[in-house]
Amino acid sequence: MWNAPKVGILGGGQLGRMLVESANRLNIQANVLDVENSPAKQISAHDGHVTGSFKERESVRKLAESCDVITAEIEHVDTYALEEVASNVRVEPSWQAIRTIQNKFNQKEHLRKFGIPMADHRELQNNTPEELAQVGEQLGYPMMLKSKTMAYDGRGNFRVNSKADIAEALEALKDRPLYAEKWAYFKMELAVMVIKTKDDVLSYPTVETVQEDSICKTVYAPARNVSDAINQKAQALARKAVSAFEGKGAFGVEMFLLEDNSLMLCELASRIHNSGHWTIEGCALSQFDSHIRAILDLPIPPKSLELLQPSIMLNIIGGATPDSHLKATEAALSIPNASIHLYSKGDAKPGRKMGHVTVTAATMHEAETMIQPLIDVVDEMRA
Ligand code: ATP
Ligand code: MG
Ligand code: MG
Repeated sequence: MWNAPKVGILGGGQLGRMLVESANRLNIQANVLDVENSPAKQISAHDGHVTGSFKERESVRKLAESCDVITAEIEHVDTYALEEVASNVRVEPSWQAIRTIQNKFNQKEHLRKFGIPMADHRELQNNTPEELAQVGEQLGYPMMLKSKTMAYDGRGNFRVNSKADIAEALEALKDRPLYAEKWAYFKMELAVMVIKTKDDVLSYPTVETVQEDSICKTVYAPARNVSDAINQKAQALARKAVSAFEGKGAFGVEMFLLEDNSLMLCELASRIHNSGHWTIEGCALSQFDSHIRAILDLPIPPKSLELLQPSIMLNIIGGATPDSHLKATEAALSIPNASIHLYSKGDAKPGRKMGHVTVTAATMHEAETMIQPLIDVVDEMRA
């Protein structure tokens, strides 16, 4: 057995909470750095938590003092603080990986060197209309204007349909470091969870993700109507992309499947990921279990990452009213095989991820039939 290692987690949101659930089952103490009573802290009663922010150097230092290994549930952390504490505590994945990945433009420049296919993109230096118009001529319309940093759930993206949208796009994203991407005409979005261990790069099966208003709505595991060859090809691409970074743990890789069945990377995350929540019910080891094991050098039998049963995950996203997530939950209680996860974030805000539900069944068709009434409820509740 191991010598009761302590894991420090930067961030105590839902991803941290589900990591704590996995750590708890192995008697591993997880010390969470975030505000008091954050979702991850609520399910973990001990005095090792740190009140503060993962963006503050002092707080990260304090967390490092009490842990054997530090990890993060979010990439928007102070990597200079991580660099500093890395001489005293293990940081997984590496601060270099997190620093490169947290800037989507730098991430892509790095991955380009490894031959990872991506949409053509251009950096903006001055964020002027003239500059963006020039980029528009190079990339064509529509194009996606993106913030390099602090992006999540599409907040940081603006679709520029034509030259006429340029002023509005720059107004929406002003004061942020920007780049633009050529439009990807995809037929489907795919994702793969990759687990990097001390000597292996493993992957979960390829899933299909469906975004609505740029927020992940549903995840289908395995991806529907996707051949085994494409499923394998997507996993290989995801593993190759993650291999370009140093450090251990879970990485979420988002991809586009194009009309000609070729694949393009959308982006990757240096952490456990929404597209991998289905693994809690769908596999013997969840992405959270695997992350904890990977950063502590504990064994991960590859078979434990195989799909046990077709699974569909539906996010419960804050709708028009503060209790919208509770109405969705109420409906989920009557859905067969539905496993409900609420994140205990208080009142719902429009667009905020409040929980998720995973339905498993013997066939994908059966799972689709069972979850459809809940999708109907969620659709009615949209903000
Ligand atoms: P996340 O919450 O996944 O971190 P994000 O804010 O970082 O999201 P992206 O993943 O870059 O944003 O984009 C969000 C969604 O916007 C994608 O899942 C895809 O549906 C769409 N999208 C992004 N880039 C492009 C593109 N180049 N062409 C077409 N659609 C795109
Ligand atoms: Mg992102
Ligand atoms: Mg994304």
